[in-house]
Amino acid sequence: MSSSAYKKSPEDTSEPTAQELASLPVEAELQGVETQIKPTPPEEWPGPQRILVVLAHPDDPEFFCGATIARWTRAGHLVEYCLLTCGDKGSSDRSMTSENLCAIRHEEQRNAAAVLGVHNVMFLDYPDGYLVPDLNLRRDITRVIRQRKPDILVTCDPQTLYIGDNRLNHPDHRAAGQAALDAVYPAARDHLNFVELWRDERLEPHITREVWVSGTTSPNVRLDVTDCWDTKIRALLEHKSQVGDPQAFIERMRSRLAEGATPENPRYEEAFRRLILG
Ligand SMILES: [Zn+2]
Repeated sequence: MSSSAYKKSPEDTSEPTAQELASLPVEAELQGVETQIKPTPPEEWPGPQRILVVLAHPDDPEFFCGATIARWTRAGHLVEYCLLTCGDKGSSDRSMTSENLCAIRHEEQRNAAAVLGVHNVMFLDYPDGYLVPDLNLRRDITRVIRQRKPDILVTCDPQTLYIGDNRLNHPDHRAAGQAALDAVYPAARDHLNFVELWRDERLEPHITREVWVSGTTSPNVRLDVTDCWDTKIRALLEHKSQVGDPQAFIERMRSRLAEGATPENPRYEEAFRRLILG
């Protein structure tokens, strides 16, 4: 089982990561959540941006927002990943150890990031499945924010407890989103917050201008990422230990059409809650 999956049901033991996560924004809209969806092209930014993606597991960036990341790197923005765990539980292979799986997931994540044009991949290597939004995690993310100084931070929605009628969100996703948002504000902003980072490590406070929250049931930005959908799929295929049969996986991903699109006239979207803080 993938550690990053939304479980369909207890008896569903297929690897559900791709279809479940990729369909999340569409599912959210289908629930009738009232939102103000505006096409907001990232190209409105005045110049190249530093974008830091903070998510729980290797493969989360690609599943949640891989096409958007491809679009951003293609536009000249600098994208870096900070993965909080190394995905060391997501296997049904009884001969697999967490140590070996961690190494595999690191390599797969670096390969997937390279497909998307991501500049840097960092791992905090918290144990998969046990992530909690405590002060240690908040401090570690705050350290990365102050080191990397992002203009934009991408994470996931800690309020997404379940999707529709048959899926639970992974607790690591909720913990990652909560800790990342808490690190953006106020921890990274104020030098007396985790004063040891400023006093002992000489890390100055940093204000992140925007936060883009993926995996949300209340998006306010929906990007048309049709041009980057195949790149997203190619990146996801680098997660070989997660995707199963490649051809079946590709077909599932291509079926994740935006509302109103058809296989003959495909269109794909990724949705976010965009918060402009500064
Ligand atoms: Zn995950």
